[in-house]
Amino acid sequence: MSQDSRRIRLIMDLRNSGVTETAVLSAMERTPRENFVEESFLDQAWANRALPISCGQTISQPLVVGLMTQALELVDRQRVLEIGTGSGYQAAILSRLCRRLYTIERHSDLLAVAESRFTAMSLHNITTQAGDGWKGWPRQAPFDRILVTAAAPVVPQDLVAQLSDDGGIMVLPVGDASSPDQMVVRVTKTGTQLNSEQLFPVRFVPLVEGAADEIEG
Ligand code: SAH
Repeated sequence: MSQDSRRIRLIMDLRNSGVTETAVLSAMERTPRENFVEESFLDQAWANRALPISCGQTISQPLVVGLMTQALELVDRQRVLEIGTGSGYQAAILSRLCRRLYTIERHSDLLAVAESRFTAMSLHNITTQAGDGWKGWPRQAPFDRILVTAAAPVVPQDLVAQLSDDGGIMVLPVGDASSPDQMVVRVTKTGTQLNSEQLFPVRFVPLVEGAADEIEG
């Protein structure tokens, strides 16, 4: 089967599995996942599954990317923060749906590869930082939307503080990384009011505290 027909089949699968927003489906269709996977997994680039990338991390499953992106309820011209750049795949999709995407990754070598992909794909509205995403990016706050792509045992309060109080939305997997029952949670902030909903179960790599380069040398 050609990559083209694999891509069309994946987009149909996503639609049937609940990714119904046309803008999200279109952003995913226009973002070649083969640019973000390791060479040895190229034949699975459009399969609906998570795949290993370097540094013991993973590129998320397309269905999870679609559902979490949709849960953000992005509207035009927003400023979005992503924690956990990884391969850069989720960032590339978000960048097509917002004004500016800020993304933080603790592994600087993963980030360098992702940055070269953004440049090669002419995605010019992405600003990156190597560091610890637990702390967010205070200098650029507030953000209209925040997406965390690694599982935190609790909702990081620094991120809540950096969410716009004018209907800001944060989507993140919450739960112990070693347990199979992490949940995607959506936190909505209006004034001082926080509303939290549990959306669906997932399994993500852990959101680790501290930047890798400082800790692992
Ligand atoms: N969004 C990525 C998914 C990557 S997996 C993609 O589309 O490919 C999660 C990523 O979060 C990993 O790359 C991991 O290194 C990173 N991560 C974990 N803890 C972090 C932290 N505290 N700050 C920044 N990045 C972190």
